[in-house]
Amino acid sequence: MRFAFSPEDENFRAASRDWLADNVPRGTRPLRGPALRDFDLAWQRTKFAGGYGAVSWPVECGGAGLGPVRQMIWYEECARAGAPSVGILSIALGHAGPTIVAMGDAAQKAAFLRPILRGEAVWCQGFSEPGAGSDLAGIRTRATVEGDHLVVNGQKIWTSQAQHADWQELLVRTDASAPRHKGLTWVVCDMRTPGITVRPIETIAGEQHFCEVFYDDVRIPLANVVGGLNGGWRVAMSTLASERGAAAASRIFDLCRLVERLVSLARARRGADGRPMIDDAEIAARLAMHRAEAAALRSLGYAMISPGATASADEARGRDAGSLAALLFLHFGELVQRVRETGLTILGAGALALSGEDGDLVRGFLADRMHVIAGGTAEIRRNIVAERVLGLPRGDRA
Ligand SMILES: Cc1cc2nc3c(=O)[nH]c(=O)nc-3n(C[C@H](O)[C@H](O)[C@H](O)COP(=O)(O)OP(=O)(O)OC[C@H]3O[C@@H](n4cnc5c(N)ncnc54)[C@H](O)[C@@H]3O)c2cc1C
Repeated sequence: MRFAFSPEDENFRAASRDWLADNVPRGTRPLRGPALRDFDLAWQRTKFAGGYGAVSWPVECGGAGLGPVRQMIWYEECARAGAPSVGILSIALGHAGPTIVAMGDAAQKAAFLRPILRGEAVWCQGFSEPGAGSDLAGIRTRATVEGDHLVVNGQKIWTSQAQHADWQELLVRTDASAPRHKGLTWVVCDMRTPGITVRPIETIAGEQHFCEVFYDDVRIPLANVVGGLNGGWRVAMSTLASERGAAAASRIFDLCRLVERLVSLARARRGADGRPMIDDAEIAARLAMHRAEAAALRSLGYAMISPGATASADEARGRDAGSLAALLFLHFGELVQRVRETGLTILGAGALALSGEDGDLVRGFLADRMHVIAGGTAEIRRNIVAERVLGLPRGDRA
């Protein structure tokens, strides 16, 4: 297929670039605690005030209604400007909000969407449990209906940003007698409800990225159920499709920048023979390959969301948005690992003792392992691509 930006797209790019030049926060983003939450919410408020709070969300939901191509252009310009990422708002903006846009009722849209856009609410995702990650349909956290409430008991794990969150997209088992996928419910949980305990977990990168969350008779209004009681699997699949697409799309351009940073680093640093690392044929070849692969990923991202792509033969072959997102997410996650490894090779044996910007590359190497695990591991993405994009037979599993 052939993809080209329209004159309106180019105008949007120019306006975004100007706006970012004037508005990107100058300070350093704090790494943890209430200061981190304040920083990310303040950046969202600034973007919302400028009309960039949610470029692709529909206008009636508070967004700019500009569609996915302009959303990608916005991400690209943010990376170019060195703007902060959406940070701890990635769940609210990347998949909780989009799920409510797609499947919430009018009252839920009115209650939950604008506080996200106005930079007033942080969300987290309560899907994974000990023993149920890849096998999401195996979750055991249960909820029973009591009057006009669900009463929840159980445990979630790896819940990113739960310590900062006001709300949670929570998947619970509401019918233990139904087939595994049919007894689940997707519900919005107020994280300040009595009975919730949050315990942060330290990652290898030294961050408190995620938490364990325990539920002890937690009461949630039935009005917060999205997609109907026992209709949660379909809603969760919509969430995961948004999550995989948003996670990859928003980070492709940061990855392109990282590759260019490594090229500069390889020019500046000298190897054991005293020559610039870029003169090492193997390093030069690896960097050239990363640059080509990152450019291909960028093109793939734009091609997959361009208007022509959705009405193509792909759709006729049954390739839904979720499986295409898994393809992009798989390619992105694995390329990040290769690029990060090249970064460590360039830094050399003393990498772990480095601080400042070079030390950040080591921390990035550790933190970016998540991109082949979170949102579905690389193996699970491969299964989706094999079955739903390539049409191969389903493997043996429950
Ligand atoms: C940084 C980070 C943030 C996260 N944030 C969240 C969050 O906010 N909310 C949330 O709910 N979860 C979150 N997760 C959890 C994440 O979704 C799970 O870790 C992931 O789905 C894998 O599940 P698991 O850890 O239980 O591993 P398992 O499912 O036990 O998998 C173990 C290994 O077996 C492989 N495997 C399993 N099944 C198959 C299969 N059918 N075919 C081939 N290989 C298979 C996997 O690929 C993996 O290598 C996060 C994880 C990380 C690392």
